[in-house]
Amino acid sequence: MNRIDADLLHALGELDEALAVLDGDTLVALNAPMQALVPGEPGQASADWAASVLGLATALEAPLGARQRCGVSGEYLAQRVALDARHVLLRLTDERARLHHLQRQLDDREGLLFTSRSLTVSEMGSVLAHELNQPIGATANLLRGLKLRLSRRHPDSTDELAALDKAVQQVTYASQIIGRVREYTQSRQPKTEPLDLVELVHQSLGLLDWDLQREAVQLHLRLPLAPVMVQGDAVMLQQVLINLLRNALDALRLDRPAEPVIEIELQADGPRAELRVADNGPGITPQTEARLFLPFSSTKPNGMGLGLSICRSLIEMHQGRLWFSRRDMGGCCFHFALPLPVAAPQPTLEKTT
Ligand code: ADP
Repeated sequence: MNRIDADLLHALGELDEALAVLDGDTLVALNAPMQALVPGEPGQASADWAASVLGLATALEAPLGARQRCGVSGEYLAQRVALDARHVLLRLTDERARLHHLQRQLDDREGLLFTSRSLTVSEMGSVLAHELNQPIGATANLLRGLKLRLSRRHPDSTDELAALDKAVQQVTYASQIIGRVREYTQSRQPKTEPLDLVELVHQSLGLLDWDLQREAVQLHLRLPLAPVMVQGDAVMLQQVLINLLRNALDALRLDRPAEPVIEIELQADGPRAELRVADNGPGITPQTEARLFLPFSSTKPNGMGLGLSICRSLIEMHQGRLWFSRRDMGGCCFHFALPLPVAAPQPTLEKTT
């Protein structure tokens, strides 16, 4: 064995990657990971040695530097690198380990983003909750007082009384959000309870019925007939749904199609429930898509660009996921998925309206 082989054998023994040194058609040295993968003896003909692993013999014939898959279901990448005029280093990289490593990096990155989104929510939340609590409480009281006086003096003003009811309903919703944000900033936990997603859709639509009528938007609902129960914080999840619906309404108003439609679909499938809010508005450009869930990115004249980032944080607090997809016929679709309780039987029947 010449000097290069001895040095290499020593160095190769220290490495995790599967490595072998070839001298022309002969195997010269192999390290322990390679020995475990493709057992062989120095001096053996490299073609015989490589025959035991699918695709490795072909990889040995490929040009230097080329990467070739080998092994059962191609889980290794084989590459040959020239060491000197005679010797070639063969390197087998475990693709599964590399992909696993990559996935861990992505998970860590997502974890960091999640933490920073949570911080955005709680910092913004405490400021807003503090500043808005008083005026919202005062508005609710004024509206209730006004409604009482109106009903006494003009009991037949049914339209005005109905409008005041709606106003009280909206303000109550706003104060619930504020209350919930205040609680969250203290506990840092969603206040979860069993809740029905079908009911949540109807409640959210109740809060937006005026906007839907004003914009003359058709609503297509595909909801299961029976309740879809999840463990969740009703105020937070309603906030998500209302944000998605308001975004769809904004898009349909800013660039109105001939027949504006919003579709809401709920499916309870396997381990999770998925809710989709889709519109046939203008859709979004790839540039907007790239920044969609980042705070403070908005294309609207008066937008703050916080809605989607907060929605994603709220869903992730429920161990769920929120994402976007482009619709083939144009427009946007936002999806969120929440885990379903393991034992609960879920309905399969659906109705379309
Ligand atoms: P904001 O509504 O304040 O802009 P969001 O975070 O809710 O903040 O939305 C960010 C951006 O995403 C919007 O400004 C808009 O460009 C885009 N967007 C969200 N939903 C839709 C939709 N349904 N159709 C078209 N664009 C949308």
